[in-house]
Amino acid sequence: MKMKMKMTSDFYMHNNMVKFKYYNISSKGKETTFKDLTNQILTKSPETPYAASCWWNVKMVKKRYVLKATITLPRIRGPPLKHGVRKQWDTWHKPLKCHELGHLMFGRLYRDTMNEFLKTKPTPTQRKEHERRVHKHLAKEERGFDRKTQHGLLPHKFTKSINHVC
Ligand SMILES: [Zn+2]
Repeated sequence: MKMKMKMTSDFYMHNNMVKFKYYNISSKGKETTFKDLTNQILTKSPETPYAASCWWNVKMVKKRYVLKATITLPRIRGPPLKHGVRKQWDTWHKPLKCHELGHLMFGRLYRDTMNEFLKTKPTPTQRKEHERRVHKHLAKEERGFDRKTQHGLLPHKFTKSINHVC
């Protein structure tokens, strides 16, 4: 099955079905090290051992497939960090966020593929069968995406279209 990835303006920011949730990592100011910050992730992340997550679900609502998603990410609270530490954090955090947005793209792809299929006026059985096939295909792709990007550590190693999301 071939599926085209497309980026449109409603991709994530304008999609009110996408929620961002944050958990707080505390800074004690200038003496805080990058390790102090990352050490807190294991205990504070609701998705531990992962630092972030993207949960998505596609459902039919009033004859259209609708995407619902929640992205959870860490954020720093407290006095400003030393410049170098802030930079280290940003260098790590940006690809992590990018990775989670990459997951969101799979949800969007699923929604769009199914909405496209609805134009062929399928029977409920054909629709269920197509859902199953598309989901199976995308789940495999998504696992490959996780492997190739090492769950957010190396998003630049995936494809240009994913990098777009950064
Ligand atoms: Zn992942």
